Amino acid sequence: MRRIYEDAAYRTPQSYWWRDTAPPALQPQLDGDHRTEVAIIGGGFTGLNAALVLEKAGVDTTVIDAEQPGWGASGRNGGFCCLGGSKLGSALLAHRFGNDQRVEWHKAERAAVDHVDALLSDNQIDVDRHSDGETLLAHTPKAMREIRKSSDATAATYGVTPDIIPAEELRQRGLGGKFHGGITLPIGFALNPAKYHAGLARTAGAAGVRLFGQTPAQSITRTGSTWRVTTPTGTITADKVVLATNGYSSEDVPEWLRARYLPVQSSIIVTRPITEDEQMRQGWTSLQMCYDSRILLHYFRLMPDGRFLFGMRGGLRATTSAEAALSQKIRTDFHALFPEWRDVEITHEWSGLVCLMRRLTPFAGPVPDQPGLFAAMGYHGNGVAMGSYLGARLAETMLERPSSGAFPAFLSAPPARFPLGSLRRLLLAPAYTAATLFDR
Ligand SMILES: Cc1cc2nc3c(=O)[nH]c(=O)nc-3n(C[C@H](O)[C@H](O)[C@H](O)COP(=O)(O)OP(=O)(O)OC[C@H]3O[C@@H](n4cnc5c(N)ncnc54)[C@H](O)[C@@H]3O)c2cc1C
Repeated sequence: MRRIYEDAAYRTPQSYWWRDTAPPALQPQLDGDHRTEVAIIGGGFTGLNAALVLEKAGVDTTVIDAEQPGWGASGRNGGFCCLGGSKLGSALLAHRFGNDQRVEWHKAERAAVDHVDALLSDNQIDVDRHSDGETLLAHTPKAMREIRKSSDATAATYGVTPDIIPAEELRQRGLGGKFHGGITLPIGFALNPAKYHAGLARTAGAAGVRLFGQTPAQSITRTGSTWRVTTPTGTITADKVVLATNGYSSEDVPEWLRARYLPVQSSIIVTRPITEDEQMRQGWTSLQMCYDSRILLHYFRLMPDGRFLFGMRGGLRATTSAEAALSQKIRTDFHALFPEWRDVEITHEWSGLVCLMRRLTPFAGPVPDQPGLFAAMGYHGNGVAMGSYLGARLAETMLERPSSGAFPAFLSAPPARFPLGSLRRLLLAPAYTAATLFDR
């Protein structure tokens, strides 16, 4: 597998909180030659959701993961099950794809949250759920003015009544940090992603999906009317193959993927449980999941056990010095926003890869000119809900069934290649610099 970051970006993080709460069930390595109707490469939310729909429709489905299912972003994200998935705002969506498609996209965002909600309740998956919707906090007075100005449009877009929180009310709502007001949309909730993934893997396994770990696809080739997936310890012959590798994709498995995705690092710290006294001192007692209004945003939430999770974009490189600088930066930002918690011990810290697409919208559809090859990826850092949802929608496409939820047509348009080939992450440097200036 040829990948575009340094090796360290593809190593298992040393400490990540979720693994302590829900150790993954280890799946066996594929051994020998197997036959299946659909082979899914990548065992995260996308792959497992696709697998579940396929298997329930009576299609024999096999999922392989290079590490273990859930090892990628799905097992180590912030657990915000929320709106999002594209980096295009409403105006640009309408401009590029037309107003009907924009409306369909926003329906899909809502449907994605409902999809996960239903999966959890239908399969009795306990995920330490909390937070009523999601709160956006203004990092400047100007940002708060913008939030107020756009609140009617936001309400119309999602068909909900947002709750605008003036600056002076933040503390009494338990949201006392360095913010200038905020807005809550009553859509979404927070979950423990490892518990969601483990529950999903159990459900898929019980439905008949075969799951394999430590099984990297080394090549995916078409031979006659079938596909052949080669791994170090065996092969899979399949009628159809799904690429569900998102930010952990490689340039050569298969070659079609080359430069069509851009992995970006995102980083998280988690503190020890913060005592009630410490919470009161900061004025932050709410279990609401929040993010701030910066372009390079921070996302954070107090979890039910009192630990605080704080995340932000990661570094451009995965070298020891870049990681040390990032580790310093995330602490600096955390302490600037929550100064009373400067001395609270940070017990866990890790990074992972999210995935951008050149058009800034996800892709879920057939790979052109390669009959039987499909892919779903590119959720722009918001794939807990959207990755789950598009995995399921992709499976319906493969079954040639009408979509059972909103599924705008532009999502199936083949993704364009980024410029600069394997050096394309260099594109992020000027974007980060501009965003940093804008965010001041
Ligand atoms: C730090 C961090 C925080 C985030 N926070 C949030 C959040 O709060 N809310 C939100 O909505 N989203 C969040 N995201 C994004 C979200 O986690 C992802 O969009 C989502 O998990 C993607 O799921 P996936 O199944 O498509 O990919 P992944 O979960 O990344 O899975 C891809 C899998 O493919 C496997 N793979 C790759 N190549 C091969 C191969 N050749 N053969 C076999 N297997 C292969 C990998 O081992 C990996 O397990 C976050 C991501 C990160 C990294």
